[in-house]
Amino acid sequence: MSEDAYKKAFERERNARKEAERITELKSRELFELNSALQQLNDELEERIQKRTAELETARNRAEANTKAKSEFLSMMSHEMRSPLNVIVGLTELLDQRDLEDPEGGYVRNVRFSALQLLNLINDILDLSAIEAGKIVFESTPFDVTYAVDQVFNALEQRAIDKGLTWSKAVPDDLPVPLKGDASKLNQVLINLLDNAIKFTRDGGVGLSLEQLEGQGKEGEVWIAIEVTDSGKGISEENMERIFGKFEQENTSTRRVHGGSGLGLAISKQLIELQGGNISCRSEVGKGTTFRMELPFRYEGRVSEDMSLKDWSQVNLVGLRILVVEDLEVNRMLLRQMLRNKGTVMFEAENGKESLEVLKEHEVDLILMDLHMPEMDGIEATKRIREGRIKGLDADIPIVCLTADVFKETKESIFSAGMNDFVTKPLETRRLYQVLNHWRNQIDARNAELT
Ligand code: ADP
Repeated sequence: MSEDAYKKAFERERNARKEAERITELKSRELFELNSALQQLNDELEERIQKRTAELETARNRAEANTKAKSEFLSMMSHEMRSPLNVIVGLTELLDQRDLEDPEGGYVRNVRFSALQLLNLINDILDLSAIEAGKIVFESTPFDVTYAVDQVFNALEQRAIDKGLTWSKAVPDDLPVPLKGDASKLNQVLINLLDNAIKFTRDGGVGLSLEQLEGQGKEGEVWIAIEVTDSGKGISEENMERIFGKFEQENTSTRRVHGGSGLGLAISKQLIELQGGNISCRSEVGKGTTFRMELPFRYEGRVSEDMSLKDWSQVNLVGLRILVVEDLEVNRMLLRQMLRNKGTVMFEAENGKESLEVLKEHEVDLILMDLHMPEMDGIEATKRIREGRIKGLDADIPIVCLTADVFKETKESIFSAGMNDFVTKPLETRRLYQVLNHWRNQIDARNAELT
């Protein structure tokens, strides 16, 4: 290559390189500017997200506070309404037992039926508001699941028979006993499912089955699956998503024809899920429906002495001296019936103050204490008893609270006042006998130690 040609080639190459450098620089600058713009956008976006998150947080807190306030108000109101309604239901039952002539007899049955309906609705609302306010408390007491399921099944049998439905049950006889959990919540869900199954089935029948799920859950946990199957009207796919919602019924005619509030399944679902379980439903319109729930229980392998007794009507309470402290005559009367035919010796007081007087004069083994009473409430009376200043009275005497409250605060306050146990109202004979049997065993064991 001649020198001239070489210079030209060199010059071209230099120019090309310069051009490449210029373009690179230009692109770098563009990239830098784009990057800065992006960064700015990012910062702005982050700021906006932070602001929005804060706004949402405030809104959520406000909504939560509102829900809580609403739930607390509802639960307070429901509770206040429940007490007088319990009285109406109790007294109309007494009237009904007198076989009044019609039309009075009819009026009484109508009042009772309406009051029961109202009571059911209020109980549902009370449950739901307790759940929403995060105040639902689950018991963890040992019980026999097979026995509990049997009780519910037997209780509803007559309704199924009256409707001409078949009524069947398949329960294995080797389930571990006792399992620890909340028997009354299990009852509540089961009653709801079986009641719906009967309600929505015209021909055919209703079946209940129970099985233990193997290999599921953690150590010490037993999972039980319970299915309620019916050959009823079924639920359409579209409605399937709604039935577990609050106040949801399939359509407005359901309420007209079958009554109900549409709360049962919403409550059942929450009660099951809050205990770590699940509930699902399969259905075919015109063929029938199956609800399946799976629920964990604790199994500690130990059969407690209380549980060895399956038939609570056989419990031996003869000679147990019980003081009932309760302001409502209806409730005292109920307890009289439940206790006297068991051979217990029953004393009565209408409020806390009166109970202290009775305790000065009579020897008593156990106290059933209502919470809300005029003059002196159950908490105050318990505190006085525990102070140990009543002559001749053992300050550690077992005190069992009679309460309609299901809320945590109450439960905590009754135990911190010194009560030993509780039975919820409306009173259930089985639970009452179970608790009394437990404390009778404790009393006997203590007496044996002392002698
Ligand atoms: P309620 O029974 O008080 O109306 P639930 O929450 O228990 O409320 O049930 C909601 C709705 O789900 C019912 O109104 C009914 O339409 C439907 N449903 C529940 N169980 C069944 C069933 N076994 N068969 C058909 N429909 C059912």
